[in-house]
Amino acid sequence: MKLYNIKDNSETINFAGAVKQGLGRGQGLFFPEDITPIANLDALLALPFVPRSVAVLQHLIGDEIPEITLTAMVERAFAFPAPLVKVDDETYALELFHGPTLAFKDFGGRFMAQCLATLSEDGKKITILTATSGDTGAAVAHAFYGLPNIDVVILYPEGKISPLQEKLFTTLGDNITTYAVQGDFDDCQALVKDAFDDEELKTAVGLNSANSINISRLVAQVCYYFEAVAQLPAEQRDKAVIAVPSGNFGNLTAGLIAKALGLPVKRFIAATNENDTVPRYLQSGKWDPKRTVATLSNAMDVSRPNNWPRVEELCRVKGWELSDIASGALSDKQTKDALKRLYEHGYLCEPHGAIGWELLNQERTKDEVGIFLCTAHPAKFKENVDEILGQDIPLPAPLAKHIAMESLSSVIPADFAVLKEKMMNK
Ligand SMILES: *Cc1c(COP(=O)(O)O)cnc(C)c1O
Repeated sequence: MKLYNIKDNSETINFAGAVKQGLGRGQGLFFPEDITPIANLDALLALPFVPRSVAVLQHLIGDEIPEITLTAMVERAFAFPAPLVKVDDETYALELFHGPTLAFKDFGGRFMAQCLATLSEDGKKITILTATSGDTGAAVAHAFYGLPNIDVVILYPEGKISPLQEKLFTTLGDNITTYAVQGDFDDCQALVKDAFDDEELKTAVGLNSANSINISRLVAQVCYYFEAVAQLPAEQRDKAVIAVPSGNFGNLTAGLIAKALGLPVKRFIAATNENDTVPRYLQSGKWDPKRTVATLSNAMDVSRPNNWPRVEELCRVKGWELSDIASGALSDKQTKDALKRLYEHGYLCEPHGAIGWELLNQERTKDEVGIFLCTAHPAKFKENVDEILGQDIPLPAPLAKHIAMESLSSVIPADFAVLKEKMMNK
């Protein structure tokens, strides 16, 4: 696989390099040079999830990873299903929360961990530094927990993620260090960017990123879009419209890559909460991020989505119009209302998925079949879901275990000097 830096096209790199390096010069994102459609799509869709994912990844990555190695990596990373659950005759929920941390980021996080473990030079220490607005932290922490020669440092905005989410990744210890940053998610992301600009720190700790910008996470996520369409009844396969609850827009980027590979998705709907930089941009053509506001769907509380340049690049390369991407944004009040109506409709969801469902309903035309991505398990947002629905939904076993444990996080100011000092002296 050959990739180039979107900001500086003269910088090219292979898959292994892009995985290890994360970002290119000038903090540019890497983008695949060649996304050609996959031949014989019907045969591909007929395969089970793991072998099909191996085929998709091999098509994208090429011969850099031998098939037998890639198969072992995918088996370990995708050790749980992504069921497409029928909500009504024209609507399906793609449940991406059956992994160990109950959110879709398990797919990308676990595949990235496999890539780093496979592609890194023996014995050389790596430090994974990532900022999370909720679920990335848990997915990354669990994916790397206990792996030799890999340290993980996770930054998150203090008090701005749910206590359940927090407990899931701050209680592990061992090679996982977590900091609650006095600021919002954008401040955390800025600290990560500063760290990658600091050559001294980078070399000293073997810095690597694991957030949604890493190309390995993105290619992993492409696989479940194929899984979604594969589970649709044959007569509905050409009519699919997919609503993607979006924050950093990695998930939507992966969906668009799947479409570029030939997956028959009619169109996508980018669904956000009040942090609606992208929907406003798609409507007005003006990129005008506002201050990030805290919402019920906190994993999407992002006003400067870091994967957006890849969406634009893909559209440019494929000759697609940005305006072909439908979009919309919901307030917390509208989100609560959607969650209630969806529950009355027979499906228990959480705020992120409910935003997808509601905007799917608003945007979809009569002859289209709708799929909305359920990015997290309802119990992960239990306090809110219980309150909105007047229910007491049960905690799945992995969550119950972590909630009983003590958080090992320390609080730091949104100050790079403080973070650097801590990381250098570990
Ligand atoms: C991360 C996350 C999102 C947003 O995904 P992006 O790829 O950043 O757009 C949506 N829902 C949940 C539950 C998440 O954890």
